[in-house]
Amino acid sequence: MTAETIFVGTEILLGNIVNTNGAYLAGELAKLGIPTYYQSVVGDNKERLSEVFKTSLNRSDVIILSGGLGPTQDDITKETVSEVMGKKLLLDEDSKRRIVDYFEKRGRVMTDNNFKQAMIPEGAKVLDNDNGTAPGVVIEDNGKMVILLPGPPKELSAMFESKVIPLLSAKTGQTFYSSMVKICGRSESEIAEVLDDLINMTGEVTVAPYAKECEVHVRVTASGPDEKSAKKLVKPVVKTIKTRLGNSIYSTEEDMTLEKSVVDLLIANDLTITTVESCTGGLVAGRLINVPGVSDVYKSGYVTYSNKAKRKIVGVKKSTLEKHGAVSHQTVKEMCLGAAFAAKADVSIATSGIAGPDGGTPEKPVGTVFIGCNVCGEVITKEYRFTGNREKIRSFTVSEALVLLRECILKYYGQKTFGGSDNV
Ligand code: ATP
Ligand code: MG
Repeated sequence: MTAETIFVGTEILLGNIVNTNGAYLAGELAKLGIPTYYQSVVGDNKERLSEVFKTSLNRSDVIILSGGLGPTQDDITKETVSEVMGKKLLLDEDSKRRIVDYFEKRGRVMTDNNFKQAMIPEGAKVLDNDNGTAPGVVIEDNGKMVILLPGPPKELSAMFESKVIPLLSAKTGQTFYSSMVKICGRSESEIAEVLDDLINMTGEVTVAPYAKECEVHVRVTASGPDEKSAKKLVKPVVKTIKTRLGNSIYSTEEDMTLEKSVVDLLIANDLTITTVESCTGGLVAGRLINVPGVSDVYKSGYVTYSNKAKRKIVGVKKSTLEKHGAVSHQTVKEMCLGAAFAAKADVSIATSGIAGPDGGTPEKPVGTVFIGCNVCGEVITKEYRFTGNREKIRSFTVSEALVLLRECILKYYGQKTFGGSDNV
């Protein structure tokens, strides 16, 4: 069974809005193990939508359309799809009542065109919208399943989760189970090589890597007649990945983040932490402080942007700055040790780099960054060369700082403390 997605909206084509529904549905379909070979974006134009939709009917089993279900003239998805499939639009009394209720409850005045949303193609199934007015629609015809979902992302995701997933599972007669293995500190190409045989496996289990900033997430999916049998297929593959990648895996939990895994590691080892940042200007602290419960380990941190601040606040030596410069192994080492002393913290992380667009030299071009990490007096410093604009360079620096933090804590404790959880 193959799926295809079509996103309707001129504002997506113009770049006024980002197609987050595209990313969401792609991820969800991958989780379900349903291959998606095509994804299209088309404007609010009947002819062009009609053309794209006809093509999709010729090549995919499940076609999901998002957007254009609203009450206005430019909302044409339902009308176009019905026309192509030769279905009449009929007023659905239940949907009409729900729309009336929706407006009454909110004390809002509804206009006649809102009833347009209650017009449903004959024989179609209605998906009630619990977060808005436009109902979703499922048309099954000629072995094809066509699913129309509202454009607003919250309405779309809620409807997909509660109403579409059960329909897709019923259609395949399969239940899907998937597990996410989250890896840091290894490149996507490295992971692709180490897991090459698994990624190219044909059969019931799919292994798919997704590159993130300084991370790679590997989704392992299997289907079976019930969840238990699907899980049984996923488990040994996850175990193999764990054996091959060991401590590079920071979690197998769906909602775990790199920063949370670092904070968990600090809490588990009873370590306090401080940050001292130059080019990242507080962003490392920000990522750590995103984690609820971080107050147990994080008390204070520093932004030391100028050389003067580096000297005054965290005691970097004048001679170090003169001899090696602010962007150097020596400076981040002294920043780390000075911050740990000032904050009375066990662990400290320091960043200093050239984020650009100016300030680069032939020896230290824009994108040169040094990160230092100290765990109980043991300091490791690393040099990085990032590419991209200022924002990208700073963002990479923050992610690499978290990766280095994790690496240093694990190293200090002789790799005994595995940060990842064991649930598959
Ligand atoms: P409405 O009843 O709100 O008109 P609709 O189903 O007609 O809903 P659209 O008019 O196409 O949907 O889009 C409504 C809003 O939903 C857009 O202005 C945009 O904010 C958001 N939206 C639509 N499509 C997408 C998409 N693919 N990705 C992210 N957001 C989207
Ligand atoms: Mg609309």
